[in-house]
Amino acid sequence: MVHLIRGFKDILPNEVEIWQHIEKTVKMIFEDFGFSEIRLPILERTELFSRSIGEDTDIVEKEMYTFADRKGDLITLRPEATASAVRSYIQHKLYAVDPIQKFYTIGPMFRRERPQKGRYRQFYQINAEVFGVESPFIDAQLIYMLMLLFSKLSVDDISPHINSLGCLACRPKFKEALVTFLSGKTDQLCSDCKRRKDKNPLRVLDCKVSSCQEALEGAPATLDHLCDGCREHFEKVKDLLEKLKVEFVVNKRLVRGLDYYTRTTFEIQTGSLGAQSAVAGGGRYDNLVKILGGPDTPAIGFAIGLDRLVEITNLKKDVYEKRLNVFIATLGENSREMAFEWACDLGSSEMSVEIDFSNRGLKGLMKRADRLKAEYVLIVGDKELEEGSAVLRNMKTKEQVSVPVEGIVDSVRKIVL
Ligand code: AMP
Repeated sequence: MVHLIRGFKDILPNEVEIWQHIEKTVKMIFEDFGFSEIRLPILERTELFSRSIGEDTDIVEKEMYTFADRKGDLITLRPEATASAVRSYIQHKLYAVDPIQKFYTIGPMFRRERPQKGRYRQFYQINAEVFGVESPFIDAQLIYMLMLLFSKLSVDDISPHINSLGCLACRPKFKEALVTFLSGKTDQLCSDCKRRKDKNPLRVLDCKVSSCQEALEGAPATLDHLCDGCREHFEKVKDLLEKLKVEFVVNKRLVRGLDYYTRTTFEIQTGSLGAQSAVAGGGRYDNLVKILGGPDTPAIGFAIGLDRLVEITNLKKDVYEKRLNVFIATLGENSREMAFEWACDLGSSEMSVEIDFSNRGLKGLMKRADRLKAEYVLIVGDKELEEGSAVLRNMKTKEQVSVPVEGIVDSVRKIVL
């Protein structure tokens, strides 16, 4: 048989319930905070990602699924959603309707990374993006909203790590200090970073190779090189988080893997995931809308790793487990004919219902009802039908009542719901 591709996975029906519950909770909370859903394509022109994420990043250099389509145009399976959201904001001139736009989107991303626990080649992200707000209030509110979501989803052992990466005004000075620092460390850097050091030294900060991380011990930090505007902005974010009683860690070493980040940057770290400790990450990208051809518009967003979120939630199964309201067990041709219509009626009146069309006996039918976690079983035998009734069994209490055929759908509905 043909198996699935390495790093890809199926999410089976019994696993999907928790995904659906998380997605429902996300929609509820994000919409309460003024976000609207946007659905973006999975394929985009390669250029969109190389221009936004940055040519020297691991994603663009090594991880993108890029193809020439039949006409030879280079297209890429999206490795992240922010670039597409920005493209859409510009392309549809949403800024002309209202410069302030808040989007969220949930869907698959593709990166050809080395597969391991918590790291897949097709994985899912929940993204939120805010355009047109420069104020630090929104930075704090986004982090607050993330923490609220995690608490609703019973995710413990998490903490937001925050940092500021500065802006175009303060970055040159920082870059200078970094280049000076790195020039004494060339021998310790991996071959990629030897090249990046001159082309795009900031990238070295984010390299995952351990010798590079060791070489960075004592490296200058953006936080120590902020201009007045960036420092004030960051101080305000911290004040607001304190006001909102969000406990956070200032992490000077936190840089994010994409070129477009400015000012506030953050990651939600958890102790429950081993090596892949980030369950969400985000930050400001105040220059990206302009870089991609739109008006100068500040922006901020985050991405939650949905696969990882599923792995660390402590939600109890009964919170999200799907229930079958009624299982209809028919015992004979006539009863099946009749109950078939009831099943369709019940199914169209907000009840989940399963009718078994096989010829198995009552024992086998009850077994299946158990497997499907049915709350009630409606037992319909030809003999009972002749007497004008069927039996409704409560699977939890084992109580059984006789229900007249006349008006049976309404009667069952009243008992079950
Ligand atoms: P990033 O877009 O790299 O900032 O990632 C945001 C979040 O997506 C991370 O914190 C992870 O939770 C998740 N993530 C990123 N890459 C992967 C992957 N290959 N497999 C599973 N989750 C991922």
